[in-house]
Amino acid sequence: MPELVNPIQWATPVFILMIVAEMLYGWRTGRVRYEARDTLTSLLMGVGSQVAGLMQKGVVLGLGYWVWTNWRVLDIGWQWWAFVIAFIAEDLAYYCVHRAGHRIRWFWAAHVIHHSSQHYNLSTALRQTWTGFIALNFAFRLPLFVIGFHPLMIAFVGALNLIYQFWIHTEAIVRLPAWFEAVFNTPSHHRVHHAVNPRYLDSNYAGTLIVWDRLFGTFVREDPAEPCRYGIVKQLGTFNPLKVAFHEWIGILRDVAKARSWREAWGHVWKPPGWRPGGGMTSDELKRRWQARKEVAGGDHAPEQASSVAAE
Ligand SMILES: [Zn+2]
Ligand SMILES: [Zn+2]
Repeated sequence: MPELVNPIQWATPVFILMIVAEMLYGWRTGRVRYEARDTLTSLLMGVGSQVAGLMQKGVVLGLGYWVWTNWRVLDIGWQWWAFVIAFIAEDLAYYCVHRAGHRIRWFWAAHVIHHSSQHYNLSTALRQTWTGFIALNFAFRLPLFVIGFHPLMIAFVGALNLIYQFWIHTEAIVRLPAWFEAVFNTPSHHRVHHAVNPRYLDSNYAGTLIVWDRLFGTFVREDPAEPCRYGIVKQLGTFNPLKVAFHEWIGILRDVAKARSWREAWGHVWKPPGWRPGGGMTSDELKRRWQARKEVAGGDHAPEQASSVAAE
């Protein structure tokens, strides 16, 4: 078994240098926007996420070992090509957990942190969850250990996947060569993922390979005529890291406490974010209303103001 370093620790100084470079570029050109307290919150969320990761690492790896030791189907070694296949398999698992993170409120409570900034710059990439462990996100990786990938190999390629996703959080790069945009997640694709414009909601869940979204029908192309507005449908309006980290979990607890039936309580946890008994303002509903306005307006660029007003 090879000695594997933690690539995130190795990459952190590069992240900081790239953020400073992007800030300088933004000040010179006005093409990238930074807000000091937003960036500070993102940095604190990044540090907190690493601390949370260290605290839960033993349990998650232990569980991984247990599954791998007792249930694995194949004996996959440490060949270079095993790393390549592991990376692709882990990227698919990431797509699944990320899609669940947007479509099921339980997982959204952990993932919303990453979307809580109204800015889109390299520092946004550091805004990572503290509560992925509570959400049981690691369950999505268990099938990889059943296949036979060593837990340390998955941890390693998972970290590489996260590192890949850093540089795509920028408005400085408009579009890359067509072949690259076709295969890989890019700044353009991921801007769409972070946008709250109804047409862009719930799309482009990819980690590294955008092919998963193309395959599973969740790909949406960025339309230069419709600039992305970033954040979450109901903006958070706080830079307090504790509120950023836990607000949706508290929201779930409150809603479940007020629920009038088990069915309602279940809905508050497992239905899409924004769900309320009798409907609510989910992304599907926002899209439906936008579509209706588009048809009335008879054009492709229907007004969207109503969505942000209605998004309770
Ligand atoms: Zn997301
Ligand atoms: Zn992102």
